[in-house]
This record gives sequence, C-alpha cells and structure tokens, in this order.
Amino acid sequence: MADEITSTPTTEQAPAAAAPRPASGGPRPPRPAGGPGGGPGGRKFFRRKKVCKFCTEKIDAISYRDVRLLQGFVAERGKIVPRRLTGVCTRHQRRLSLAIKQSRNIALLAFATRY
Ligand SMILES: [Zn+2]
Repeated sequence: MADEITSTPTTEQAPAAAAPRPASGGPRPPRPAGGPGGGPGGRKFFRRKKVCKFCTEKIDAISYRDVRLLQGFVAERGKIVPRRLTGVCTRHQRRLSLAIKQSRNIALLAFATRY
C-alpha cells in the first residue's frame, strides 16, 4: 500500500509551477522610495548609469556623420547634454561636442529647435 504513494509524485508538483509570478494582472506592490540611485536624499531627476558609453564600447573616434549616435547626446532643444548627466568621460565628451558642432555645420543636427 505504501508503494503507490512514492511511485506517482508528478501530480503534486503541478500547482507549484503554475504560479511563478503574480506580475501579470494583479495589483503591483508599491516601489521602494529612492529609485535607481537608492539611498536617502535621492534626486527627483532620472539618473543614468555613470559609465562612459564610448569607453565601454571602445569607440575612439566619434564621427560627425553618425547622427543617430550624436542625437543621443543632444537635448530636445538642440543643446549638448552635459557630462554630469550622460556620464561620458572628459576625453570623449570633447570629441563628442566637436562632432556635434561639425554635424550642426553641415545641417545634420539642429542648432536649436524652433517652436
Ligand atoms: Zn570615455
């Protein structure tokens, strides 16, 4: 009689796999305060990861023709985003700003957006 219980363990494991996450549908738990930065005195502004994108991807020369790349470092109004927001290192920010200015001159990027 005892052998029948051990031979069929598959039926008991079924409900465990059915609910891995309550993420879909149900109400979400509230987020912990502080955001991605964490810690007290958190900023209200969105903070990116402070790693130089060009250093991590090993891009040495920033081309002025690469508009899509440059646009990631230009604000909505056409201003160059400062280094403290993007996390780009000094060396690359210099090349970046140079490339953006060259790109503006040949009208690939806008000097300022007009409304
Ligand atoms: Zn860099």
